[in-house]
Amino acid sequence: MTGLDRGGLTVILIGPPGAGKGTQGALLATAFGWERLVTGDLLRSAIREGTELGKRARAYMDAGDLVPDELMIALVQERLRGFPFDRGVVFDGFPRTVAQADALSVALPSVERSLDAVLLLEAADAVLVKRIGGRRSCPQCGRVYNVYSDPPISDGSCDECAARLDHRKDDHPDTVRHRLKVYADLTEPLMAHYEDRAFPVLRVNGEGSLEQVRTAVVGALTSHLGVEV
Ligand code: AMP
Repeated sequence: MTGLDRGGLTVILIGPPGAGKGTQGALLATAFGWERLVTGDLLRSAIREGTELGKRARAYMDAGDLVPDELMIALVQERLRGFPFDRGVVFDGFPRTVAQADALSVALPSVERSLDAVLLLEAADAVLVKRIGGRRSCPQCGRVYNVYSDPPISDGSCDECAARLDHRKDDHPDTVRHRLKVYADLTEPLMAHYEDRAFPVLRVNGEGSLEQVRTAVVGALTSHLGVEV
């Protein structure tokens, strides 16, 4: 075995909204050449493109509810088939329910993969609400900023493509509180689900700076997998 860049690793990132899954998933993908499967991004681009999936998903997302399992499972099954076997993959935002976890445990072997790690990013609700309140994203390239911790150079527009930054509808305070409740009710049970199957959940404190969290994430993965960075 070599490091985290060895072929075919499969890692799930779980965490409440605002815990930093997107940021940490992107850092892992860049550092180790992994693919990312980001269900929130797939849904947002389906909405932008006006596809059937986008039309069906939109109302759930705007309300801060989960999109029904059968739509999500079909989406992920289709995406997984296109992934190169020799590259790692990090799941960001899937699974979010026990039914999705069960479907994934069937889908992975069908594409000759197996699960290597489940990593949970934890943060207190007050930290999450503040972070999400500051979050802005580019509707064109998808880059995410935070007005407190990672602002764009020019106020309100994207550094990469100059598009006007959006405050996602589901990032408004009432919807965020609802999303946290949905997370507690439907996604938190995943931890017991994996642990009951003797699959350890790697718990990482997501409250620090981007760099502190990155170091903790890489440390947890390397010690769990018994590899060097
Ligand atoms: P995210 O960008 O991961 O916060 O996802 C934004 C929204 O997309 C969520 O609040 C859900 O409405 C929807 N979504 C993303 N992934 C899933 C999933 N695995 N299951 C159900 N809904 C999802």
